[in-house]
Amino acid sequence: PTPMASEKEAALAAVPSDSPTIFDKIINKEIPANIVYEDDKVLAFRDINPQAPTHILLIPKVKDGLTGISNAEERHCEILGRLLYTAKLVAKQEGLGDGFRLVINDGPSGCQSVYHLHVHLLGGRQMNWPPG
Ligand code: 5GP
Repeated sequence: PTPMASEKEAALAAVPSDSPTIFDKIINKEIPANIVYEDDKVLAFRDINPQAPTHILLIPKVKDGLTGISNAEERHCEILGRLLYTAKLVAKQEGLGDGFRLVINDGPSGCQSVYHLHVHLLGGRQMNWPPG
C-alpha cells in the first residue's frame, strides 16, 4: 500500500477516545522524537511519516480533553491560538518564507489517527488544492 493509503487505514482503524496516545510518550520523552520547538505549553516535532520536505506536528503538552478540534471547549481557546501562533514561528524557523500549509484532521472521515489534537505544518514543496 502507498503511505497515503496506510495513513487512511490507520485513521479508519483508530478508535476515538480520550486515552493517552503515543504523543504523551513523546511529551514525556519516553520515546524519541525530532523536536524542533518546545516551550511550557507547546511541543513541535517532525512527523515520522513526512508528506512534504517539512512536516511538523504541533501539540498541546496538556491534552485537557482536546482529543481533536471537534472536542474543543471555550477553555481551549488560548491553547488553540497558541498552537497556530507557534506554527507561524516554526514555519519561519524552517525557512518556509514562500508559504506553507496548516492542517487539522478530525475524526475518521477527516483521516485523524492520533486522538491528541495536533496541527500539521507542511511545507517545502508546492501544495495542491483540493487536498486528498
Ligand atoms: P493524523 O492522521 O491523526 O492527523 O496525524 C497523526 C500523525 O502522527 C501522522 O502523520 C503520523 O505519521 C504521525 N505519527 C504517528 N505516530 C508517530 C510517532 O510515534 N512519532 C512521530 N514523530 N509521528 C508520529
